[in-house]
Amino acid sequence: MIFENSLAFAQQLDAQDPLSHYQNEFSFPQVNGKKVIYFTGNSLGLQPKRAKAYVDEVMNDWATLAVEGHFYAEKPWWDYHERFTNPLSKLVGALPTEVTVMNTLTVNLHLMMVSFYQPTSKRYKIICEEKAFPSDQYLFQSQVRFHGYEPEDAIVEVKRRKGEHNIRLEDVVAKINEVGAELALVLIGGVNYYTGQVFDMKTITEAGHKVGAYVGWDLAHAAGNIELQLHDWQVDFAAWCSYKYMNSGPGNASGCFIHEKHHTNSELPRFAGWWGHNKERRFKMEPHFDPVQGADGWQISNLPVLSLAPYLASVELFAEVGMEALIKKRNTITAYLEFVLHEIDREVKGNFEIITPSNPKERGCQLSVFLHGEGRSLFDYLMKNGVIIDWREPNVIRLAPVPLYTSFENIYRFGQILKSGILEK
Ligand SMILES: *Cc1c(COP(=O)(O)O)cnc(C)c1O
Repeated sequence: MIFENSLAFAQQLDAQDPLSHYQNEFSFPQVNGKKVIYFTGNSLGLQPKRAKAYVDEVMNDWATLAVEGHFYAEKPWWDYHERFTNPLSKLVGALPTEVTVMNTLTVNLHLMMVSFYQPTSKRYKIICEEKAFPSDQYLFQSQVRFHGYEPEDAIVEVKRRKGEHNIRLEDVVAKINEVGAELALVLIGGVNYYTGQVFDMKTITEAGHKVGAYVGWDLAHAAGNIELQLHDWQVDFAAWCSYKYMNSGPGNASGCFIHEKHHTNSELPRFAGWWGHNKERRFKMEPHFDPVQGADGWQISNLPVLSLAPYLASVELFAEVGMEALIKKRNTITAYLEFVLHEIDREVKGNFEIITPSNPKERGCQLSVFLHGEGRSLFDYLMKNGVIIDWREPNVIRLAPVPLYTSFENIYRFGQILKSGILEK
């Protein structure tokens, strides 16, 4: 498509966009009496308006039914999480038995490592990406120390080549082969939080398995953003938070995937609790743990139903739209943002460098832009003028034109605000 940096052109794209009305499904903060242009859905997604009704329903059932709500609520609480399995499994390319919701992301990754990181003196190393999200780094360090190894020795980072912003697939595979028989686990962010780079999860998973390692993925920036085929890719496990692209609300529950091939393996250690116990017999209060055969068998505690309620509202919204339609719009709107950035760069003789891969297959909806020569004052200007972005030192802005609630007109208007912010300084 040949783009134009004009209001009329952007409005024409909106008129042709089958998802444009979904913007009305969300609540937007306001600045100067106008809805903001919201580019930080990769950090905290907007509130779907329908979420409130789901929360109210649980509050009402609690008030009127109290303990009876476990079985007689409108959506009974004791198996509330099972309402996620169908829609959520479709979003991540899994079988319904392979997904569950519980805890929060880093907690789930720790629990997954209980099962899938069983180091021996010969095979104890973990491969991750250079500058992984800090929580993941702390996860790796504390896990290897817990097992009596040294992080400097046991954690192997795949590095960027000098002068490059992204990690090359061939370098990941080469590192996996190099560590080979010493490799216990590969655990990488499927979409890098800083650059927005999407990794080739199928190829990396295959390479890890070839040398006898388990392969898991942190999908914090992937769930609800990119196409996932976790079952077919033979991924061992994955987990994601739901408050970024999945719009479930601050700090909300994590989704978790465990491949079918592991469901009946009684050799795998796990930390157990009563909510993972055989569903039919859960309330018989038996002394021996008999796990549900499926991802639900990794559940520990009874569920925080109040917090799952807005997540369920959002998952149902995603199921209604479908990842295919979402990805189609995402590709166009991200490309339009890229185009507008280049146009403004040309007009103001700026020096913008988009560090996210330009290949649409290697990115989702985030563009990370190095604004050479600009400072924090530009960030302040954008925020004051109703553009919500995030700023990373030294001067990188991350922009996520989330397809569910961003319009093409938003992109055009952002370009104009960016331009005046640079010209005004
Ligand atoms: C956002 C994010 C997290 C956050 O983890 P929580 O346990 O939900 O606080 C972890 N890892 C990555 C890669 C993230 O992007």
